[in-house]
Amino acid sequence: AARPVTVTVTGAAGQIAYGLLFRIASGAMLGADTPVRLRLLEIPAAVGSLEGVAMELEDGAFPLLSSIDISDDPWVGFDGANVALLVGARPRTAGMERGDLLAANGPIFTDQGAAINASAAADVKVLVVGNPANTNAFIAMSNAPDVPAERFTALTRLDHNRAIAQLAKKTGVAGTDFRRVAIWGNHSATQYPDISHVTVAGRPAVEVINDQNWVVNDFIPTVQQRGTAIIKARGASSAASAASAAIDHIRDWARGSAAGDWVSMAVPSDGSYGVPEGLISSFPVTCANGEYSIVQGLDVDEFSRGRIDISVAELEGERDAVIDLGFA
Ligand code: NDP
Repeated sequence: AARPVTVTVTGAAGQIAYGLLFRIASGAMLGADTPVRLRLLEIPAAVGSLEGVAMELEDGAFPLLSSIDISDDPWVGFDGANVALLVGARPRTAGMERGDLLAANGPIFTDQGAAINASAAADVKVLVVGNPANTNAFIAMSNAPDVPAERFTALTRLDHNRAIAQLAKKTGVAGTDFRRVAIWGNHSATQYPDISHVTVAGRPAVEVINDQNWVVNDFIPTVQQRGTAIIKARGASSAASAASAAIDHIRDWARGSAAGDWVSMAVPSDGSYGVPEGLISSFPVTCANGEYSIVQGLDVDEFSRGRIDISVAELEGERDAVIDLGFA
């Protein structure tokens, strides 16, 4: 039988984790042939609630779930982690500016980066979901000098999936017929969902849609503001869709992305497309053999360039702020 993979999830008593853990246990993330050991991390105040989640996981009687451990100590929780899903973060509360949010999350991701550095498995793959996700990932990466930087990633797959959903709705064509959607930049309202390379059933999507006004004034803002629209409609943040996108991100990274297509991941830049090296920014990537590569050689037109630059400038501002605060 295959050896179990150790998956650490932080914020494990939260809403996203509630959508995530049962799917990990069912094999949706690592495959029906891969047993999983779950290591669940929470802050002390949420450990009681997490015990309830663990009871429900037991009651799922998942054949692939080989063990569940609970901790409030990152130095315990990341021990042996092959996959680390950093979901927990300090939420933005009323009156909090972006700078306050960075300051509140800095210590969490500094500690978790150090703990991953000291105790995770040599092949650890890290996905940060907790916001501000790109910069939290940057902090964790900066505090894990012995882990290859490219193992630190942040979630923009939800934005990618949201873009496909909007394209499908606009055209009446199934989402599975769209290829080569790309999200660039930060997982924030400045992100750039790019359809300039998209094909739909083999034809250029821009020709099929033939409506630049829709792209600029409807599609892009709808994808950028989708989280806010869901909070308004549901009275709570998107949780199940974020969990589903996290599953997609790790599944494709670990098991490969579809031939002829790509996916979006926020990863440390290697300088591609003029994004400063080391910044954790979203790119189109392909995945094979447990590794991702940034898609090279794409034409970036003037419109796209301007949009990418805006989001990258925001990321540089966040990076400089956390460096000033001493977190990186
Ligand atoms: P959720 O599980 O709903 O969200 C967790 C994080 O994911 C938030 O930072 C949230 O950002 C972010 N996120 C990223 N993308 C999305 C998206 N598309 N939609 C919604 N959220 C997104 O939050 P809960 O408050 O339910 O749970 C968080 C848990 O984390 C709590 O149980 C808390 O105790 C725990 N926690 C654990 C820590 C640890 O393990 N060390 C540290 C800090 C907290 P946003 O706030 O912007 O929506």
